[in-house]
Amino acid sequence: MTNGSGMRYETWRGLALWGEQEEAAAVEVIRSRSPFRYYGPALTHRTDALEQGLAELTGVPHAVAVSSGTAALTTAMVGLGIPAGAEVIVPAVTFVASVGAVVAARGIPVFAEVDDALTLDPRRLEERITERTWGVMPVHLNNAAADMDPILDVARRRGLRVVEDAAQAAGVAYRGRPVGGLGDAGALSFQLDKNITAGEGGAVLTRDPEAYERMVRYQDQGGQFSTSKGAVRGTGDGPVFVGTNLRMTELAAAVLLVQLPRLAPMCQRLRDVARRVREETADLGLDWRRLPDEEGSGGDLTLLLDSRLTARGFVAGLRAAGVPAYTLYQGQTVSTHRAVREGRTPWGKEWERPERNRISEGFLGRSVTIGLGAAMTDEDVDAVVAAVHKTASDVRGSGG
Ligand SMILES: *Cc1c(COP(=O)(O)O)cnc(C)c1O
Repeated sequence: MTNGSGMRYETWRGLALWGEQEEAAAVEVIRSRSPFRYYGPALTHRTDALEQGLAELTGVPHAVAVSSGTAALTTAMVGLGIPAGAEVIVPAVTFVASVGAVVAARGIPVFAEVDDALTLDPRRLEERITERTWGVMPVHLNNAAADMDPILDVARRRGLRVVEDAAQAAGVAYRGRPVGGLGDAGALSFQLDKNITAGEGGAVLTRDPEAYERMVRYQDQGGQFSTSKGAVRGTGDGPVFVGTNLRMTELAAAVLLVQLPRLAPMCQRLRDVARRVREETADLGLDWRRLPDEEGSGGDLTLLLDSRLTARGFVAGLRAAGVPAYTLYQGQTVSTHRAVREGRTPWGKEWERPERNRISEGFLGRSVTIGLGAAMTDEDVDAVVAAVHKTASDVRGSGG
């Protein structure tokens, strides 16, 4: 059986679990006639509750819900006080939003290589540090943590701020510690593809009370409503600055609050699915992406084949069997994205052509990711196992 895309199952995560509870939560906000978080006729305080839930989930004292994952990353850097023109080291394998957030925070992105985990190579991080480097943004790619201990070690030694891009990894842990709560700040996304979703949304996490204060102000026009608390707007404690509007709506927060408790069981289930597929195809001797902490992952199945050509054959073979498979970012590192390559920002050319990240291009180009969805059945998992077996033998048979 296949769905409209020709694939036998869908790869949605949070969205796959949308149902009556989300509907009731949205209706409650609509009936309250108070969809704005800071005032209204009968506030339900869903955004406040979401922030508390996210702080608990990630083990940090402070969370700020915002309008998107990109907004969360920008707010994180602004909150931590990034100076204009400062460099932020970003892995060569990520979604372009990581770069967009650095640009929006008036920083300059610098690209570092990934290793066979497809995440920032801690050994290659140090060579990208200059006197202009302000911070580093490890990306927890496809529901698996980057190797945070050695990254945090380099950052501490060299005085860098660490902003985790955990957009693809809400609910994921690294050595027992939830991602997003490991660096100076972390960002989650609640866009449609992510682990929990309201279509759009994001959150920043931090342990730093001063950064938190700045984050709250930044996402709310410098604190126009959040600091009012019945007093004169925008004159709370701390330094005042002009912010912007990146606020979350109560509707989004209400839906996300329903989704939040589903995160842990979903990650557990998809981690088990991934493990089962690897175990039941172990006889093939395939290379899988290295996971710095497999126990904490939220389910990743990414193969590393011996060449781009073999990877392409694998994608075609798996898709022909109805298994959603693809090479992440069409095999393109973010530093070869046209606008990034040319240093083009809305404010003009901001940097010179970055060096090619050839190691990252190598790993990414010969990788194949099998999409996992929260509504996958055991039969779907069996089909993935069978498709991997068949594709491996077909690709080998053709001498690939
Ligand atoms: C989705 C994503 C973002 C941005 O999240 P939005 O909510 O879409 O703005 C940032 N970084 C990575 C790695 C992502 O996958």
